[in-house]
Amino acid sequence: EERDNSSAHEEKIYVAVRVRPLSDREISKNDSSEWECINNTTIVYKNTQLPGAYAFNRVFGFNAPTRLVYEESAKKIALSVLSGINSTIFAYGQTGSGKTFTMCGITECAIADIYQYTYKNHDRKFVLKFSAMEIYNEAVRDLLQSEATSLRLLDDPERGTIVDKLTEVTLKDANQLKGLLSVCQVLIKILQTVESEAVQLRGAQSSSALTASVNFVDLAGSERASQTLSAGTRLKEGGHINRSLLSLGTVIRKLSKGRTGHIPYRDSKLTRILQNSLGGNARTAIICTMSPAHSHVEQSRNTLHFANCAK
Ligand code: ADP
Ligand code: MG
Repeated sequence: EERDNSSAHEEKIYVAVRVRPLSDREISKNDSSEWECINNTTIVYKNTQLPGAYAFNRVFGFNAPTRLVYEESAKKIALSVLSGINSTIFAYGQTGSGKTFTMCGITECAIADIYQYTYKNHDRKFVLKFSAMEIYNEAVRDLLQSEATSLRLLDDPERGTIVDKLTEVTLKDANQLKGLLSVCQVLIKILQTVESEAVQLRGAQSSSALTASVNFVDLAGSERASQTLSAGTRLKEGGHINRSLLSLGTVIRKLSKGRTGHIPYRDSKLTRILQNSLGGNARTAIICTMSPAHSHVEQSRNTLHFANCAK
């Protein structure tokens, strides 16, 4: 049963690009920075022999702090969970481009804000649950458990696809939150979810609950997708890693093109899990990360091409 997107609202996927600074290693090899953010929305390739201006909702240069990236590109979308709207924030880019760096910072800022909000708003009662998982070789692993067993996906008639036996920690206070986040600095790989259940307190008899999730997704390196496409035969591992990444790409491209017709959510674990948080009434942001280096121009162009297709 595919989701009916015919009545979907017009809102597009929010696409931002973040260029990291040259790394010490790149500097020591005399690598040069090939990209320039000429304003808040446009990034250009300095080598004028190749076509090179790309425009997005937002572009962040190497000196943009993560806090700014969060405030301008993720905050609104992440906090929509508090009004019962599902959302997903992705980091997409080649290995070493800054996905984990960006997503850890954004997750930390967002959870702190969500917590603050629920703490200050006494007209509603909130229950915040946190879970963290990794999808590797199409196997779903609980990052809050030490065993490496693969979890099954179940189709729940009310909630859609759920991960069976996934640990959900109910967040009680800010300290507990910090503890979890420090685990995640090390463990965050693919997906972190905060589920908010907001109960409107309208007197004793009539209370209604809204449940929504915000997902923070640190994708596998995008070079894996292009490797499979070009190399044809790959190791089983490569093929599996790519299944989630490739089908996410397909889903994103279809959603960005008007959201009608069949959207192949069921083709991978990642897209199944995120089905209710992508498209429809959900909100999505993609932050594409890239190295500015000459030696990575090809991968950076692939990333910008993906970003262009998503917007
Ligand atoms: P990825 O997850 O895409 O493989 P990482 O997030 O691990 O990449 O980043 C690679 C390295 O670059 C890390 O050492 C990280 O600290 C550093 N880095 C990434 N983005 C930035 C940035 N915007 N500013 C400073 N350092 C960064
Ligand atoms: Mg990483």
